[in-house]
Amino acid sequence: PMCHSEQVDNPRICVCVRKRPLNKKELGKKEIDVVTIPGNGVLLFHEPKQKVDLTKYLENQVFHFDYSFDDDANNELVYRYTARPLVRTIFEGGMATCFAYGQTGSGKTHTMGGNFSGKTQNSSKGIYALAAQDVFTLLRHHPDLDPFVSFFEIYNGKVFDLLNKKALLRVMEDEYQQVQVVGLQEISVTCVGDVLKLIERGSACRTSGQTFANANSSRSHAVLQIVLRRHLQLHGKFSLVDLAGNERGSDVKGTDRQTLAETAEINRSLLALKECIRSLGQNHDHIPFRMSKLTQVLRDSFIGENSRTCMIAMISPGMGSCDYTLNTLRYADRVK
Ligand code: ADP
Ligand code: MG
Repeated sequence: PMCHSEQVDNPRICVCVRKRPLNKKELGKKEIDVVTIPGNGVLLFHEPKQKVDLTKYLENQVFHFDYSFDDDANNELVYRYTARPLVRTIFEGGMATCFAYGQTGSGKTHTMGGNFSGKTQNSSKGIYALAAQDVFTLLRHHPDLDPFVSFFEIYNGKVFDLLNKKALLRVMEDEYQQVQVVGLQEISVTCVGDVLKLIERGSACRTSGQTFANANSSRSHAVLQIVLRRHLQLHGKFSLVDLAGNERGSDVKGTDRQTLAETAEINRSLLALKECIRSLGQNHDHIPFRMSKLTQVLRDSFIGENSRTCMIAMISPGMGSCDYTLNTLRYADRVK
């Protein structure tokens, strides 16, 4: 992918788009691909002229991102331009955060590497594993730092520990505005294999859902954190976030109170996230991190001189996903 180089932006925020290939179902329905990526970070969205005549297009809508990944990009390539440059940050004592954003089915979990079937990870390694690999490579030069992993889910404004049987956790903020997830398991790891096992365990816990929060993974945010400590003192933290699907309330089936509350919470948290990322590196008094549990828990990510964030917006290219895709592109466009 080529960088959109004219953009002089906050170097602490990187916003990218990844288009997944049309899947079998979409190909079977002969869906038209409404997204073209000519290069240089540019993405063209072809809005259908009218629903009746699917072959005629309106003028293309043009979007500019730091990087735009076409449907032939693999996870390694996406990783190299998005999360990889952030690994250094946590060794320098900073907070790094990488978000996967997009509608359900657009490739968030695929990109992060949280798709497990049976005992083995599906397809190629995702960002979780690739980041863990690089962290352990760098750790060889930092014998004073110890790595830990935690993995939790935020569903309907509640935090559940994916490494501890989905235990419900309390979030506390002290008088210094330090946010603590009380009782969150932080497990010491010694190699990449350790991390992969925990990801597998947490991912299985995420989708099984036997608690009252029988959360479909598309309605929850999953946060994997790789934490570096020196003598147990926090040094740096890498948060890898597989966000809840951003589909709109009216499109979600069912209108019972539970579903409505879930949808409202997801919308609120994604709105809060946009505002928090936008204010990254600006006046700390105005970061609205208390607007949602997600942003509250990730407060560290939005403050401090040494925080860096990247967002990968996933899009489905099919005509049937047009509205969602446009929503995603607009959101990503406004994050910067
Ligand atoms: P999400 O987590 O956004 O709901 P998934 O990551 O589960 O979506 O992806 C939905 C399906 O599409 C999965 O079967 C996944 O393997 C496939 N998929 C997603 N992105 C890609 C891609 N870039 N290349 C090939 N298959 C993909
Ligand atoms: Mg998913």
